[in-house]
Amino acid sequence: MTTYMVTRHGSNAANQSMIDRMILGLYEATSKDKVCTAASKEHTVYSNQFLRATPKSRISQQDWEEAQEIDARDNQLVSGVCQLCGKSLGKIRQIETLSAICDTCGG
Ligand SMILES: [Zn+2]
Repeated sequence: MTTYMVTRHGSNAANQSMIDRMILGLYEATSKDKVCTAASKEHTVYSNQFLRATPKSRISQQDWEEAQEIDARDNQLVSGVCQLCGKSLGKIRQIETLSAICDTCGG
């Protein structure tokens, strides 16, 4: 499992006016594609915008600190489901949504 920082690129008056690059939060996943798919369901991405997932190892210290603050502020609890069986797990941290496994599946 790798931790990724997701950024949204492209200024749009509706969600990031005059800002070319915005940190959306942190995700744990096995691939960039999974991260971007999950993030695109939780954040609006207009036609002139795109999401980018950057692995933790390639994030600057400044971005890492900012991403952690944003994650703590905005992404605290979401409805989680087991990634293997789909069972509801109640509220979990957003960063864990892609790696969430229920007790039954996790053994
Ligand atoms: Zn399960």
